[in-house]
Amino acid sequence: MFRLMDLHVDVGTSLLSEKVFGGKGFLDAGPDAQFDLSKALSGRYSWVVSAVFPGTRFVDPGSGKVRVTFGCSRCITLEQVKAIVSVEKAFAGKVKVARRFEDLKAGMEGTLTLIIGLEGAYPLSEPADLIELSELGVKVLGLTWNVENGFAASCMSRKDYGLTGSGEELVKLANKLGVVVDLAHASEKTMLDVLSVSRKPVLISHTAAKALNDHPRNVSDEVLEELKRNGGVVGATLVPSFLRQDGKATLEDFVRHVMHFVEVAGPDHVGVGTDFLGIPSTPEGLENASKVQAVLEALLKEGLSESEVEGIAWRNAYRVLEASLPQ
Ligand SMILES: [Zn+2]
Repeated sequence: MFRLMDLHVDVGTSLLSEKVFGGKGFLDAGPDAQFDLSKALSGRYSWVVSAVFPGTRFVDPGSGKVRVTFGCSRCITLEQVKAIVSVEKAFAGKVKVARRFEDLKAGMEGTLTLIIGLEGAYPLSEPADLIELSELGVKVLGLTWNVENGFAASCMSRKDYGLTGSGEELVKLANKLGVVVDLAHASEKTMLDVLSVSRKPVLISHTAAKALNDHPRNVSDEVLEELKRNGGVVGATLVPSFLRQDGKATLEDFVRHVMHFVEVAGPDHVGVGTDFLGIPSTPEGLENASKVQAVLEALLKEGLSESEVEGIAWRNAYRVLEASLPQ
């Protein structure tokens, strides 16, 4: 079994939801839970980028569709950061929140290190607000979720304006502060703009290959080639609709996307970002964190070497964090 770093699990919102960890807690949330501490450790997880989702979901009474608003994002962000830090307190010795690179190194066998990742820059009213958030523990910064903002266009923007002037300022400040920029959910132009501006390697934490399934959330080969030049890492996700148009994705589909990433970006630029706790269903055989090792076994069968698979399992993403996080 390889050690694992998962680049995207929706820990923040789940901690605030009684439906997910409520009653049973973070330690063992029951057989149907996609992620909890017991499943993570039995799947040999050592690090997980724990997402803070700064929006409020509600069902539009007219259309019945789920909508998301970011009006209270600052407050929601702080509550989720507080909840993640409270997990560290509750499971002292087993769970650690990464504040600097030293904390990643300390990720010992049988412990889980949480890296706090903000899924969209909505709580920031100006780039300098990142100083406060990074001090609170935010070490990965997504520029957008599926809604555009004053920093960047999202993958769902009608007009792809890419990175704005203040977006560029934000990326430069993130480089300086040791916060890794995450391009998941960003538009094509935003990704290319950031890849030309960022002095540090970036993450595209949870996505799939556009060449295999033309979904707006997936990444193009052009982006993958630029990512290779940047030294960053793309995290292959389990979201079924990203893997296959009909949404009936299997482990084989997931492996196909990973192999495409390996082919275009190279084996040193690929990782895993499941999106556990953020997806209604997963491919069969990959229902929860204890089962992700099956992917790595499948990659060995595809002919990747032990060291290439180890890179995908954790070492590549670890290298990206090492290049940014304060020592
Ligand atoms: Zn997401």
